[in-house]
Amino acid sequence: MPTRDDLIADLHGLLGERGVVTDAEAMARYRTDWTGRVGGMPLAVVRPASTAEVAEVVSYCHRNDVPLVPQGGHSGLVCGAMPDEEIAELVVSLERLASIRELDPINFTLSADAGCVLQTLKEAAEAAECYLPLSLGAQGSCQIGGNVATNAGGLNVLRYGMTRQLVLGLEVVLPDGRIYSGMRALHKNNTGYDLKQLFIGAEGTLGIVTGVVLKLFPRPQVTRTALLGCRDIAAVLELYALARRCCCDLLTAFELIPRRCLELAMEASPDLRDPLDAPHPTYVLLEVSASGPADLDTMIETLFERGMEQELLDDGVLAASETQAQQLWLIREAMLEGQRRTGEHLRTDISLPISSLPAFHEQATRAVLDACRDATVIAYGHIGDGNLHFNILPPPATPDSDKPALLHELETILFDLVATFDGSISAEHGIGRLKQAPFLEHLSAPEFELMRGLKHLLDPRGLVAPGRILPAPSP
Ligand SMILES: Cc1cc2nc3c(=O)[nH]c(=O)nc-3n(C[C@H](O)[C@H](O)[C@H](O)COP(=O)(O)OP(=O)(O)OC[C@H]3O[C@@H](n4cnc5c(N)ncnc54)[C@H](O)[C@@H]3O)c2cc1C
Repeated sequence: MPTRDDLIADLHGLLGERGVVTDAEAMARYRTDWTGRVGGMPLAVVRPASTAEVAEVVSYCHRNDVPLVPQGGHSGLVCGAMPDEEIAELVVSLERLASIRELDPINFTLSADAGCVLQTLKEAAEAAECYLPLSLGAQGSCQIGGNVATNAGGLNVLRYGMTRQLVLGLEVVLPDGRIYSGMRALHKNNTGYDLKQLFIGAEGTLGIVTGVVLKLFPRPQVTRTALLGCRDIAAVLELYALARRCCCDLLTAFELIPRRCLELAMEASPDLRDPLDAPHPTYVLLEVSASGPADLDTMIETLFERGMEQELLDDGVLAASETQAQQLWLIREAMLEGQRRTGEHLRTDISLPISSLPAFHEQATRAVLDACRDATVIAYGHIGDGNLHFNILPPPATPDSDKPALLHELETILFDLVATFDGSISAEHGIGRLKQAPFLEHLSAPEFELMRGLKHLLDPRGLVAPGRILPAPSP
């Protein structure tokens, strides 16, 4: 590996002054992410402005044994993009690789550089009367390359699938600097192994995504949003099955919001009012949409009637305007902020077969409270996808120094139970560095061997995103 001075001189030679950041103060924003944690000091930050420049940097790193980590919009929740604290890494930021390459409203496809911010792509699609359904709280800052790398899910998975289902083509700079060019806008392509799938959800460990071809849809013309009050999760899930049938499978979102989350939202956003007359143990925020003249009001009224008849819901409100719908969605956003304000707590992102959720919720809550009587469980999420953020707030009196050990103990209890239900410890956020230990603990030997073999095939020196998902190679 070259000395830092030589490295920086070489990088300047490859990318010019604008493409390299070396000053500690200027690098500070590349060391942190949404969680507020701070990673190690990088060797430098590079900001290539084309795929060819990314390839030159990666090839240089491969030849000179320089570890690197790709970085998108810093909104990942498992510290994958954050520079390592022990081994100094080169941060490869995609922020200057941010052009839309082509939008084809007849093929319903959008082809873009990996550094494009998701919101920008959504707006571009909308301007062409199309719809890019990937929607998440971080869409104003996350990049499409980061979404591909984490196989992001979000609010519309129920109807449109995860990022994986939206990707038709990819361009990836491989760990040795070669470029895999798969930017084809084909809706069908059955020629050999579907290589792009390898890189989706690989969290940058198999290469750097530089371009993406996405599938678009007709823009929704009518949307209805409702908030329903229910007695418990079992009722919510029966309501979910009913909603899918009553709403002609036009359901786009079905979110579980327990009462405590609504309270946290109201604390974080004092303009929010309790949306129903009386409090309910749990709520569902649902959205139905159609790209043509569908009678959504009748569908939702039918759902209300049948849900009441079957005693699955106790009360509900249908947003009468766009503003009211936004107010209901604000609950979903503000509760995250409210939760963040509670301080250090356990955040999880598990998934289970949908029908197991009531039993899991009951057993997991009991197990957590048996281990820590005064902890608070808040379990919310994209319940229509079987995805639960089963989060745990430690008792308020817990000294800060005791929290990590307590939260680790509770996480172990929870993840062991997830395994007995044949669930997954990450539905959306991935493994990164934060979830590596429990991930490896529950991985079978054949799965581990296959994953390690793939990593070794593509990155034999283990220089790209080392220590993310799989352990870093020993020195
Ligand atoms: C408020 C909030 C809400 C969220 N909601 C959701 C949600 O509903 N659903 C969901 O799935 N996720 C959600 N997330 C997390 C989600 O994973 C990220 O928001 C997003 O997908 C990451 O994109 P990013 O550009 O910020 O990537 P970063 O955070 O910069 O990086 C994430 C990972 O991808 C790698 N990476 C980044 N860019 C590339 C690239 N071009 N090539 C290869 N590897 C790359 C990094 O090395 C890292 O491992 C949320 C996050 C926040 C803060």
